[in-house]
Amino acid sequence: MSVPQFSVVIPVYNEAGNLPTLFARLYPVLDALGRPYEVVFTNDGSHDRSFALLQEQYARRPDVTRVIDFNANYGQHMAVMAAFERVRGAVVVTLDADLQNPPEEIPKLLEKTDAGFDCVGGRRMNRRDSFFRTQASKVINAVRRHTTNIEMTDQGCMLRAYSRPVVDAIVRSGATNTFIPALAYSFASKPTEVDVRHEERHAGVSNYSLYKLIRLNFDLITSFSIAPLEYFTMFALSCSGLSLALVAVLLVRRFALNLDRETFGVFTLFAILFFLLSVAMVGIGLIGEYVGRTYQVVRSRQRYFVREILEAKPAA
Ligand code: UDP
Ligand code: MG
Repeated sequence: MSVPQFSVVIPVYNEAGNLPTLFARLYPVLDALGRPYEVVFTNDGSHDRSFALLQEQYARRPDVTRVIDFNANYGQHMAVMAAFERVRGAVVVTLDADLQNPPEEIPKLLEKTDAGFDCVGGRRMNRRDSFFRTQASKVINAVRRHTTNIEMTDQGCMLRAYSRPVVDAIVRSGATNTFIPALAYSFASKPTEVDVRHEERHAGVSNYSLYKLIRLNFDLITSFSIAPLEYFTMFALSCSGLSLALVAVLLVRRFALNLDRETFGVFTLFAILFFLLSVAMVGIGLIGEYVGRTYQVVRSRQRYFVREILEAKPAA
């Protein structure tokens, strides 16, 4: 295996229906570029035949294929991270295994890295995802723009290219809750974007449930800013101020002006109490999010376990 100029990183979770087509489309594109390359797959604890298919592909193209096998499912971003720790190329391209990002677009990204950009984001043209996903993306994009200083048009697109120093910085950052595109952006000095095609998922269904999506976007916001905490504090402060004013008004009306004798009741106070209580609960939850993340970083447990790596030793 000659030293690769670029590495293609692909996380794989239950993609047996897509892998044969992916291999058939990806390798010719990369071969045609005429530069030494490697493809690093991470099998993220798949339950289907994915790993067997990856082993077969490794047997077919051991010169350019490497396979990292996780013992369990750690999520797409950890799968990418494990590959980042081991890549050998000077440029690293990430790609989904489900063919939503056409491999044929990779040369476009490499043109940009050749031109000296160190972080190239794909921008999905006429995105082929469910209506819900597309709309949710718009909302989260807007939130991200307001709460972090990350400028990306399409954070969810995983067809991206990074220069090696950016990838090394991501690896060194050692973050547990990682949203790789945003992390990369924060380390890049010359980022850019290119339009790429987007296709329907080739086979199977998305691995992201609503729950996983919410978790992921929470990671994005909380790992890059403490804005939610700040907004919350301001909100809680104004709530306390208003409730205090309301209590004052009620007291004045009842005792100074001698009004509301029948209605001045325990219910008003209960209403206020419930409201304040709910505010406090949201606050505790938010603090918990941050404490939880601090805990994960502090205890610095290894983030995933690699069972096996299929790879040829690099030539001296
Ligand atoms: N993936 C993974 N681990 C997971 C979930 C997904 O490695 O726990 C991989 C998956 O195989 C695919 C990529 O991440 O290559 C994107 O996943 P998916 O297509 O399900 O997400 P979507 O396109 O719906 O955002
Ligand atoms: Mg997909």
